Amino acid sequence: MRVYNFAAGPSTLPLPVLEQAQKELLDFNGTGMSIIEMSHRGKPFMAVNAEAQALLRELMNIPENYSVLFVQGGASQQFAAVPLNLLKNGKADYILTGNFASKAYEEGLKYGDMAIAASSKEDKYTYIPDMDKVTFREGIDYVHTTYNNTIFGTRYTSLPKTDATIVSDMSSCILSEEVDVSKFGLIYAGAQKNIAPAGLTIVIVRKDLIGNASPICPTMLNYAIQDKNDSLYNTPPCFPIYMSLLVFRWLKELGGVKAMQKINEEKAALLYDFIDNSSFYTNKVAVKDRSIMNVPFVSPSEELDAKFVAEATKAGLVSLKGHRVTGGMRASIYNAMPIEGVKALIDFMKKFELENK
Ligand SMILES: *Cc1c(COP(=O)(O)O)cnc(C)c1O
Repeated sequence: MRVYNFAAGPSTLPLPVLEQAQKELLDFNGTGMSIIEMSHRGKPFMAVNAEAQALLRELMNIPENYSVLFVQGGASQQFAAVPLNLLKNGKADYILTGNFASKAYEEGLKYGDMAIAASSKEDKYTYIPDMDKVTFREGIDYVHTTYNNTIFGTRYTSLPKTDATIVSDMSSCILSEEVDVSKFGLIYAGAQKNIAPAGLTIVIVRKDLIGNASPICPTMLNYAIQDKNDSLYNTPPCFPIYMSLLVFRWLKELGGVKAMQKINEEKAALLYDFIDNSSFYTNKVAVKDRSIMNVPFVSPSEELDAKFVAEATKAGLVSLKGHRVTGGMRASIYNAMPIEGVKALIDFMKKFELENK
């Protein structure tokens, strides 16, 4: 039996996509083998790779002057790849809105003069700093942002006010809402939250930012080399790329990102409204900055939190335990989580509250 899986990543995938992958696993398109057993330079895989790239461009409305790279190493690898490729003046500013933002900053420190432009750490990352008030140093090569904060459940609703290049880690929100790609110099995302199995990392980078890599930049992290080789410099993560293609087709059929955003906002509103109207559950995030992908919440005590997670699991609502740094619960309600899953969670929350008040 399939459960409702609220895991933060790797996370739930659309059922029709899993079914198609299952169906094609023994024989992909009449080749007599699966997509993961064949050369990445053969026609069938090259077609998958090209269609996945083209569909991502279409879904995100990515302008012509941007390259789309399919690389490996996860979002964490981009914490290093970004400074190694983008630093020209040797300095960049970071906005710290959570654990991953801090990790990106720490990694950046190895390669340049990095500064913290703003941080919500003092308040346990429960909000996004006010973009109208954050200022940046002169001559920086980029501002680094983490668009959706997976662990703390916050998200940007406006961008830094700066002429500098804006870089954004969109690992946990890519394709969940419409974004104007032209406002960013670079967007990166690990695929395992909102797109595909782990192993694929997406980099969307404005072409004029490519070609300035530091001499110590490893070949595999060099955007110019990946771009020139159409991300096929070496063996790519074939299976996650294929799964991405299936997910992109699924998303397009559903009406694209605009339609998905509407569903996501509806799902999030159901859950937040329920929490806000309850005297039992609390979400500590500033209302204006609430994520529509990751919803952390707590019950009145740690004991009840543990009981909640255990009983929810028995009821087929799994992976609701919050991240170890926050405790409590977290419901990750990515694109592939149907609204029925959110309704089932709310029903369970009601029942649990009645039994444990
Ligand atoms: C999960 C996550 C990461 C880490 O991704 P990996 O692919 O595991 O390196 C980085 N940033 C954000 C926002 C994330 O949600």
